[in-house]
Amino acid sequence: MNTNRVAQHIEINGVVQGVGFRPFIFQLAHRHNLRGNVANTAEGVVIHVEGSHRQITDFLEEIPRSRPPLAHIVHIESTGAEVRNCSDFRIIKSSSADSKSTLISPDVSICEDCKEEIFDPRNRRFRYPFTNCTNCGPRYTIINDIPYDRPKTAMAIFRMCDKCQAEYDDPLNRRFHAQPNACPDCGPRVQLFDAQKNPIQSNDPIQTTAELLKKGHILAIKGLGGFHLAVDATLPDAVIRLRQRKQREEKPLALMSPDIEQIETYARMTDSAKALLTGIQRPIVLLDKKDPNPIAPQVAPENRHFGVMLPYTPLHYLLLSQGFTALVMTSANLSEEPIAIDNQEAFERLGRIADYFLVHDRDIYLRSDDSIIRWLNGAPRFIRRSRGYVPIPIFLHRQVPKILACGGELKNTICLTKGNNAFVSQHIGDLENLATEDFMRLTINHLKRILDITPEAIACDQHPDYLSTRYALEIKELPVVQIQHHHAHIAACMAENRIDGPVIGLAFDGTGLGSDHHIWGGEVLISDYEDFQRAAHLTYVPMPGGAKAIKEPWRMAVSHLLSHYDATGLPSDLPMFKAIDAQKIETISTMTQKRINAPLTSSLGRLFDAVAALIGLRYEVAFEGQAAMQLEMTVKKSDGSAYDLTWRNGSPIQIETAPLIKQVVEDIMKNTAPGIISSKFHQALIDGFTQICRHLRHQTGIKQVALSGGAFQNAILLRGLSQKLRLNEFEVYAHRQVPCNDGGLSLGQAVIAAHRMSCGKRGDLT
Ligand code: ZN
Ligand code: ZN
Ligand code: FE
Repeated sequence: MNTNRVAQHIEINGVVQGVGFRPFIFQLAHRHNLRGNVANTAEGVVIHVEGSHRQITDFLEEIPRSRPPLAHIVHIESTGAEVRNCSDFRIIKSSSADSKSTLISPDVSICEDCKEEIFDPRNRRFRYPFTNCTNCGPRYTIINDIPYDRPKTAMAIFRMCDKCQAEYDDPLNRRFHAQPNACPDCGPRVQLFDAQKNPIQSNDPIQTTAELLKKGHILAIKGLGGFHLAVDATLPDAVIRLRQRKQREEKPLALMSPDIEQIETYARMTDSAKALLTGIQRPIVLLDKKDPNPIAPQVAPENRHFGVMLPYTPLHYLLLSQGFTALVMTSANLSEEPIAIDNQEAFERLGRIADYFLVHDRDIYLRSDDSIIRWLNGAPRFIRRSRGYVPIPIFLHRQVPKILACGGELKNTICLTKGNNAFVSQHIGDLENLATEDFMRLTINHLKRILDITPEAIACDQHPDYLSTRYALEIKELPVVQIQHHHAHIAACMAENRIDGPVIGLAFDGTGLGSDHHIWGGEVLISDYEDFQRAAHLTYVPMPGGAKAIKEPWRMAVSHLLSHYDATGLPSDLPMFKAIDAQKIETISTMTQKRINAPLTSSLGRLFDAVAALIGLRYEVAFEGQAAMQLEMTVKKSDGSAYDLTWRNGSPIQIETAPLIKQVVEDIMKNTAPGIISSKFHQALIDGFTQICRHLRHQTGIKQVALSGGAFQNAILLRGLSQKLRLNEFEVYAHRQVPCNDGGLSLGQAVIAAHRMSCGKRGDLT
């Protein structure tokens, strides 16, 4: 038989360390009667196997199929090797200098095996809230440096007991080299306090927490990536108090339920949603509400959806098993500040919000919010990409230089690139205050360290006042590339879809600084990674009061009305003129006409705002995009009828909003239902932009269309444009891996900067 013995050298990279990969290979090799060894290296894992050709082929085929749950294989390469006549199969210990450029696993949900243990009274981890193994538990948020070893994690201060150590050392144990391994004897513990930091005595703090929640109290609960604020979601008074104390008036609050059955009592379930909810990443998934439902109406007022997740830590499971339909589990921040992580910090910042604190003594090195996903047009779409997904990179289709991209302002993320990986950070938040800016700096430094990336250049937005731009410009020793906002949106979409372009890019959002210093947001860009040409845009209208017009959509309505009507001939029968003080309208009207504090905008988001206000849906908003969201939600069913969207040929093409507004107003006067007006408005955009794409294809021959920008969170727009463009034989690309909103901006900035660096065109470098 020995004559048939052959050997192969196999290299695997991806997320293959700290996820039970070597024990998996060890057991697989045994099952296939192979000899040889497996070891960690700087790039991933290397395997030497000896056996028959058949055995090795089977072994190779099974690796991707049966890989451990947390492993993420990017590349397997197998080459012939010399037979060394190994006597058995071994796991070779890796030197600690290794594993510098291997990928780190995200934090993932507790696995079924561990879950069974915590509910088994005979198990030594019965009701232990920090149970984990190589297949589950915290990773990204507890790592302080690389290589990923216990001393470099938040677990360093806990000395494993003999039993835990034995599990950790045994290659055949589920806890072999599970760095966060712990048990009630040696690991972290929970403790309950009141808001004045007095400890609450309890044999079972989690059960006491459940009792407090049922009485309507607000609990701050330390979790995986930070603190949550929790209340029983079926108690309206408790939800109202939470909203008042948190100063978060209208944004929907996330829910956590013990299982799918409980979710089905208040939300509509689909197979695709179920798969997302139960996946190891455990994101918040947007689901349609059921009516009636047992959830307090204040959880998601004026919203068609609930944001729902399943438990993802042992602590969550223990808590939710105490008989809840759902808990509100919202990031424990004051509005717009990053999620709190440190116990001391939590008491200081949340003392006025929470009645009690359930904390533990395992540190969180890097906060990470819950991810949010909506199933849309046949695929999951990120609204926020964070816990469970970060730091798995976006795999680019070519090698790029090392770049740090700082993102934009709202919903910010940063991005670091290396090789063909683009590491987009967890959600950082709205860069509107120092706390969030500090968190951005912390994230940049942390990621540079654990990913071992020293950037060669830095990319940012062109807006001089964004804190992210200021940060970039402060760094004197690196070249800075400032990138136009909507170009970055389109490049992000191209990068994750691995296409080179040029594309016809539809960049639709609320706000982004244009190269002409006006505010863009309804843009058609012929774009590649190098540059873009503005092919078409919505006609400019003034934004009376600047940023104030975002908070008060009726101002945009006045401005858009004045693009068609005389100030003296405004259609004063509209509901808006009864709701808003005549004097105020007069003032805004003057500001608009005289262009006093009224920058010009081509924003599609602002056009949505204007139409929502004209219909009377909303005159003021609590957060950006709220009016547009409501306009989308009023659409019941479309019969395909549409307003005409007209445009003037030119360079760039001017897409005229005035005739559109006129048609909307005429329908309002005829008492047409808001749902129909909204539907015709959406359809006008779908038809009109398809026409423009056809026109541009005729001129340029480009068939690829990329859709990006926050407005594509709108389901009708995304679905409608994708379908219509495909019907017209375009290749359509949208986002699946990063959000279409400004959370995806850093990826686009990074790939543009990388392209310009590697092409040596440094025209924009300062
Ligand atoms: Zn586990
Ligand atoms: Zn132990
Ligand atoms: Fe944007």
